[in-house]
Amino acid sequence: MFDRGSAADYDAWGDVTGPQYHDAGWNWDGLLPYFKKSTTFTTPSASDAENYDYTYDVEAAYGGNGSVQASYPPFQWPGEKVMRNAWKDLGVPSPKDGAAGDATGVFWLPSSQDPKTQTRSYSRTAHYDGVAHRRNYHLLVGHKVTDLLLGEPSGEEAQHEAQGVRIQPVDGKNISSVAVHSVREVILAAGTIHTPGILQRSGIGPKDVLTAANISMKVELPGVGQNFQDHAMTNLFYNMTTDLPGPTQMFMNQTLIKEARRQYEQERKGPLTLSGGNSGAFLPLSTLTNETTSILSNLSAQLPSTYLPSSAHPAVLEGYAHQLESLVDLFSSKQAAVFEYPIGVGAMIAFLKPLSRGTVNINPQNPTAEPHVNYRTFTNPLDVALTVHGVKIFRRLYATPSAKTLGPVELSPGQAVKTNEDWVRWLKTSISPSFYHPVGTAALGPKSRGGVLGPDLKVHGVQKLRVVDASIMPLIPGTHTSSTVYAVAEKAADLIVQDG
Ligand SMILES: Cc1cc2nc3c(=O)[nH]c(=O)nc-3n(C[C@H](O)[C@H](O)[C@H](O)COP(=O)(O)OP(=O)(O)OC[C@H]3O[C@@H](n4cnc5c(N)ncnc54)[C@H](O)[C@@H]3O)c2cc1C
Repeated sequence: MFDRGSAADYDAWGDVTGPQYHDAGWNWDGLLPYFKKSTTFTTPSASDAENYDYTYDVEAAYGGNGSVQASYPPFQWPGEKVMRNAWKDLGVPSPKDGAAGDATGVFWLPSSQDPKTQTRSYSRTAHYDGVAHRRNYHLLVGHKVTDLLLGEPSGEEAQHEAQGVRIQPVDGKNISSVAVHSVREVILAAGTIHTPGILQRSGIGPKDVLTAANISMKVELPGVGQNFQDHAMTNLFYNMTTDLPGPTQMFMNQTLIKEARRQYEQERKGPLTLSGGNSGAFLPLSTLTNETTSILSNLSAQLPSTYLPSSAHPAVLEGYAHQLESLVDLFSSKQAAVFEYPIGVGAMIAFLKPLSRGTVNINPQNPTAEPHVNYRTFTNPLDVALTVHGVKIFRRLYATPSAKTLGPVELSPGQAVKTNEDWVRWLKTSISPSFYHPVGTAALGPKSRGGVLGPDLKVHGVQKLRVVDASIMPLIPGTHTSSTVYAVAEKAADLIVQDG
């Protein structure tokens, strides 16, 4: 799924980081041109649009000619329309396009898929294959960066300068490292799980983490590896007693799967052009409960220190206090989704605005090993209470006239789960910490708010070092994260060029 959050989600980035970041374009208006620039959106054929009710708003949401392809596949299962109508039965609006700043309601989301080949469009096809031949571009596989080469402090502010990286083969057999020197600057893009480890192993991070791992501190940056966020998710299970063609029937039937393969291979059509689904309901809190006022007063009363790790530095607490303020606004907004219910993948729910914060720190016993990833899902009890509101809507959804045509029978959690307490117990055992959208561990923001990066994506206190990946997001947006990473990367490219 290749979608975007609401304008409010990105405006919150400017709010939690402060005016300097807002003014540098870390908000919806500043990022929309980069969302557009990164992507080429191809409209579906008129017959596909009519068959499946595909709607989109090219003028408001697209118009760029970037190398990542976005499109709608020439196939949807009939159950998709039934479930979209079920959400409409509940009064959920269906905007033309969720990518133009209001990602709430039930709407279509394109795939990052090449409409000509009906294959995935991703960073390799979009950004590597076309330039791989360049003589000044070397992709070294089978190796990982262990840490940075940092020069001794110099200049007026006595800052360290990034001068390259140390790399090591990943096969585990050969642990000797090689130094690779940079000419202009170092750009870290190892992702939310591995970027903080590279910084921490280089002596850039929270004092307690570095001390525990016996790493000498070069730059104290309390936010590195903190502020870790993801969309927790879970599934209910329903048996649909009415027969409707769907992926399960296809994969269980040799004739159907053979025909689907033939269609895909010969015509680039049919069910194998569809990867999961292309629609979903994205709901603000007000759609799910009439207890918004008490939830918000509960949230406003929370102290930043209560549910963060006890080791959280005062600067991290300060940053989180700003996040809580923004989250009050986001939970109050009718244009900011709090839960996602993807259509086409069963009864799945993802929690888009978690209050709990995790950590990704190096292993103190073995700093070069894989990091310690602590999601800390549901450590803030309000997250559990909110998710109870989110999950209960499935019972209303499957009781709508549209959904009833599928003959749904709830298998899990089952009718024994009735009260809020029952739901809490069930959620605590069924929640999965990740919808594969980790963000936030080297976040934009001033050092005084636990931030790691300046508005130019440069690491505080280090010269010639930037981070460009999902770790830079200070608050997780209410969307699948890849298109936001591409938009951030396009903005980063401009920042790098501006620096000369
Ligand atoms: C299973 C799955 C499904 C997903 N589905 C969707 C979806 O449908 N829609 C969507 O929008 N998003 C989806 N996402 C999320 C999306 O993939 C991420 O948001 C995005 O890839 C993050 O980009 P990134 O550049 O931050 O990190 P990554 O894409 O993880 O890139 C980091 C790169 O750094 C490399 N690396 C790590 N450590 C080192 C090191 N020490 N040295 C050198 N290199 C290193 C890694 O190998 C990797 O290539 C999905 C993610 C997963 C895992």
